[in-house]
Amino acid sequence: MTARTVLQQADIARALTRIAHEILESNRGSRDLMLLGIPTRGVALAERIGASIARIEDGAPPAVGALDVTMYRDDLAEHPTRTPSPTSVPGSIDGATVVLVDDVLFSGRTIRAALDALSGLGRPKAVRLAVLVDRGHREFPIRADFVGKNLPSSTRERINVRLTEVDGEDSVAIGTR
Ligand code: 5GP
Ligand code: MG
Repeated sequence: MTARTVLQQADIARALTRIAHEILESNRGSRDLMLLGIPTRGVALAERIGASIARIEDGAPPAVGALDVTMYRDDLAEHPTRTPSPTSVPGSIDGATVVLVDDVLFSGRTIRAALDALSGLGRPKAVRLAVLVDRGHREFPIRADFVGKNLPSSTRERINVRLTEVDGEDSVAIGTR
């Protein structure tokens, strides 16, 4: 597989800091914010954005957790070996502004499943979406509110997202399968 690096560590850090500012601007501060990452890499990204929000606001980090969507997928039958990750939602989502965080947005099916998973947990005031990479090819009427980088891709390509917490380094590369 040939791969071309499109984001290096500093680029990822800048994009996440910008997203933290954008979330604070749209929410007018960190009140009632809850960041829920989609495992695996979305959780690491949610934690980083949460830490960045705490630095910017000079206060306690917003609530950060993980939302597993495996059992809510509409393509579960096509991927019977998918194993669920733990969900850990830090408190009630009732009245919260929930920001879903994922590494890559593609068809939108994962986020559709996440909305389904959320509806079983309570009634948030609002749900937003932050992604590190939007690679296009949506199959649902879903868009991200906060985007690190738009990477229009061919369906034959794969975006390789590597994060220190999971992969030992930070990089985003685009490769041909
Ligand atoms: P969707 O459900 O929108 O089709 O795909 C998004 C989910 O699949 C995300 O959780 C993301 O981690 C994963 N995904 C889809 N396409 C890619 C890709 O090209 N690269 C990576 N790293 N993940 C992808
Ligand atoms: Mg994923």
